Amino acid sequence: MTQETIPFAKPFIGKEEEDAVLNVLRSGWLTTGPQAASFEQEFAEFLGGGDLRALAVNSATSGLHLAIEACGVKAGDVVITPSYTFAATAAAAVHLGAEIAFADTARDSFLICPDRLERTVKRLAEGKSAYPDGGPKGVPKAVIPVHFGGLPCDMDAIMRIARQYSLAVIEDAAHSFPAPLGNGRFAGTEGDAGVFSFYATKTITAGEGGMVVTRNGKLAQRIELMRLHGIDRPVWNRYTENKAAWYYEIEEAGFKCNFCDLLAAVGRVQLQRAVQLWEMRKTIAAAYDTAFSADERFFIPPTSAANARHLYPLRINPEKCSGTRNQCVEKLQNQGIGVSVHFIPLHTMPYYVKRYGFKPEDFPETMRSFLNEISLPLWPGMNPAQIERVIKAVQYVC
Ligand SMILES: *Cc1c(COP(=O)(O)O)cnc(C)c1O
Repeated sequence: MTQETIPFAKPFIGKEEEDAVLNVLRSGWLTTGPQAASFEQEFAEFLGGGDLRALAVNSATSGLHLAIEACGVKAGDVVITPSYTFAATAAAAVHLGAEIAFADTARDSFLICPDRLERTVKRLAEGKSAYPDGGPKGVPKAVIPVHFGGLPCDMDAIMRIARQYSLAVIEDAAHSFPAPLGNGRFAGTEGDAGVFSFYATKTITAGEGGMVVTRNGKLAQRIELMRLHGIDRPVWNRYTENKAAWYYEIEEAGFKCNFCDLLAAVGRVQLQRAVQLWEMRKTIAAAYDTAFSADERFFIPPTSAANARHLYPLRINPEKCSGTRNQCVEKLQNQGIGVSVHFIPLHTMPYYVKRYGFKPEDFPETMRSFLNEISLPLWPGMNPAQIERVIKAVQYVC
């Protein structure tokens, strides 16, 4: 009996996306132009509009880089991130010459712990190394909280610490579109800047792409300048204002991170679907919660009404489970269930071990979550039979 494989992730793409791409292809204008501009406007409006600016870029990684740069992070400054995140969160700061200090997660939360963040920032502000037993020294300049799996961090606590120590806050919101916080605001709009991802597996996708949002006009201006070569006006204006169309000035040595209309057109359709796709993910997550919450072999992920439900990070209880996490993952994959593990902590990665000499146990809560974590398939369009098959397979192999 061979059963069809259930993928870990699958984009939800319809005829509307196909038509949108064809229209752009036929329009003759493929790069940054009217589609990207409309996408920015519609994205900002979705998140409440007003003074919120949205700037489309070619990836969330680029967006993080631009946002951190615009916040004034320079070589030798210290940027604090969780270890429990994807490489891009910290690498964007490394590329600016910054030192990275990791802060552990709160127990069983997957999210950066405000108390641990504060301890690290306080040590750095006093001129000490980031941790009692070592780590980088330098001015703490920014923190990048990650709304892991779509669950928003405690932004009130993080913003309080940030104000006290003059830290810039750049929210890594790659997983959290949309995550309404209940105060009319959304995860990603609370800090100085927030960065969303439209990578193929994310909650809405354009294939690739990202969006930086900010209420700070100066940051928006800097990001706009730096995302396209440091040119003083957008390329679209350059080709549509007929006077001196060839003329431009390079204000800064900028980057090449603009977003193309071909993908922006897909993003605009996906934005229209965002709430519907979220509802579909919530239904799947609720079925998993029901199946695993009362089972002592498992810990269901923490949640709140604001959870965008990008991932379903189930944790196994190693004392009650028949196998290890790795054995469970392997058996699930053998059964055609596309599962994954999020995230391999950055402090265990060879680059950071070589640079800072970390040991796995340096961030115990991060390791505790990671070692028992299995991300289950969670994509809009999974049918009830597929959801049931995932549940049965997990119950069986564990
Ligand atoms: C996917 C992801 C990113 C990077 O997004 P890209 O658009 O692929 O650059 C950054 N942070 C986290 C937490 C992610 O999962």
